[in-house]
Amino acid sequence: MINEFNSTINHRKTVLVVDDNLINRTLLGAMLEPYYDLLYAENGVEALAAIRENISSLSLVLLDLVMPEMGGMELLGILRQEIELSKLPVIVLTSEIEYEVKCLQLGAMDFIRKPFDAPEIILARINRVIELTDDRKLLEATEHDSTGLYTRNFFLEYVLQLDTYKEDMKMDTIAVSLDHFQLINEMYGREFADRLLQTLGGKIAEFVRQHQGIGCHWDAEQFYIYCRHIENEDELNQLMNAVTFEDTSASFRIKAGIYSEQQDNLDIDRRLAAARFACDNIPLSQTGSVSYYDSQLHEKVMLMERRLDEMPRALANGEFQVYFQPKMDIRPDEPVLESVEALVRWQHPEFGLMSPGRFVPLFEDNGLMQLLDQEVWRQTVACLHRWREEYGVQLTASVNVSRMDLYNDANLSCILELLEQYDVPKEALHLEITESAYTDDENIILAAIGRLKDAGLTIEMDDFGSGFSSLNTITSMPFDILKMDMGFTRGIEKDEKKYHLVELVVNLARYMKVTTIAEGVETQEQCRLLKQAGCDVVQGYYFSKPLPAEEFEAYMKEKGVIG
Ligand code: C2E
Ligand code: MG
Ligand code: MG
Repeated sequence: MINEFNSTINHRKTVLVVDDNLINRTLLGAMLEPYYDLLYAENGVEALAAIRENISSLSLVLLDLVMPEMGGMELLGILRQEIELSKLPVIVLTSEIEYEVKCLQLGAMDFIRKPFDAPEIILARINRVIELTDDRKLLEATEHDSTGLYTRNFFLEYVLQLDTYKEDMKMDTIAVSLDHFQLINEMYGREFADRLLQTLGGKIAEFVRQHQGIGCHWDAEQFYIYCRHIENEDELNQLMNAVTFEDTSASFRIKAGIYSEQQDNLDIDRRLAAARFACDNIPLSQTGSVSYYDSQLHEKVMLMERRLDEMPRALANGEFQVYFQPKMDIRPDEPVLESVEALVRWQHPEFGLMSPGRFVPLFEDNGLMQLLDQEVWRQTVACLHRWREEYGVQLTASVNVSRMDLYNDANLSCILELLEQYDVPKEALHLEITESAYTDDENIILAAIGRLKDAGLTIEMDDFGSGFSSLNTITSMPFDILKMDMGFTRGIEKDEKKYHLVELVVNLARYMKVTTIAEGVETQEQCRLLKQAGCDVVQGYYFSKPLPAEEFEAYMKEKGVIG
């Protein structure tokens, strides 16, 4: 009979025998040794260490209840609390019937009575439990993805389970991700990127095993960990430094954001969001790659949420105002006003005047930017109309176009309708599109820019040189005017190389019959050098800060542009 069921065992499984009594261990050992690989422990403490070390290869624990140092009940309780360990089947060895219910409640799968029955019965029970567990494991394979970590839904499910049993244990939610994953993908290939994710997944699995937690591969390069509170940041740093590849020079940064459980009892979605936020907002200046979600960051999130909530009301209340900054043509002996750039400001009832840097990125993530841009375009075209009517000045204005605007043709229609409604010619409105938008989704973006140009609108490429673009961009991308990033102007008076770079860009642009604009001009010397390098137009505090419409009108009067 023994041989019969043995044939159903494909390969030898490992069983841990936990009993303080040498005779019991020897008896069980003799019975099981022909069929299983065996590990032994004399008490709960030893058993826990052996379990942790061998969790991936262990198939079963045979557990005595009464032992010194740590008894079986206590060990069952600990195993129950750790999701990864709680799946390990345990058969309790007992002579006391009254413990049976309690053991079942604590997750034991079966009992073997002491003194031991006939070996056939014991082996049959053991084999049945292992088979049952194997079946369940097969089912659970869907819980994991290729990195060996939980998939989203199972992770969320197990976080809730863990929370039910953790009692007073303080938990951390940790978001882990790889910086510039997309770039790594492109530079080193998909295979390398996949291997990197696998390795990181493996390290996270090891980490959660040591920290009584669970890990999840959420999405692409994003992982989560839910584990007992980490007292020392170094433990996490070790995890991140553990991922290395000796066979390549690829450089990558793994970063982590931690949300430590507080009294606020946030639900899991919010805890994940807080950890992710901390991870995504690690300051560039910070040397380490671990960031905590603390009260400062919390304040920032609350403020951001508030700004998002308030945006529609602020739009209706007219709190967004357009400021105008002159662009000066420096080709003549004396600079002359050539056009203006419209820049949005939020006149907030509580926070005062806010720069676009504090809300534009937020609205861009959220789809609200299209609404705000349309409002800025409306105010700008209305001003152009008024200046023409009241002062007879044929000024050109440029407005900023968010990359998201380019995905919706309704925005093109909106611009054309505004121009018609206010009777302003198309030539009087330029559109500034930031350089990085050109690399977004090239086909869609280039087609959209093509449609804008076909409709007769002038395109300025904004912030040229700030991101990925190369000199090649000047000859291959569609635009009419090149606005060099402020970085070209900054320090041009101190750095000869920078001066020559500007000269090179200007010459190439001239060859392509494209006008060049330099931004961020703050001093006379910068202006002189830019003129010398051949730049056509400059914009910056040296001439004027961005001004509200009335002040800009006063500026035009002062400069004799209008009477
Ligand atoms: P940008 O389009 O490159 O605008 C130039 C920025 O440089 C403006 O910042 C301007 O105030 C600032 N600036 C001008 N002269 C100087 C100078 O001499 N020195 C220095 N240090 N800075 C100078 P601002 O107004 O804070 O706008 C920041 C960015 O926000 C803009 O960069 C633009 O990308 C975006 N933005 C502004 N208004 C809008 C808008 O209505 N729609 C969209 N989509 N984006 C906008
Ligand atoms: Mg601009
Ligand atoms: Mg710019």
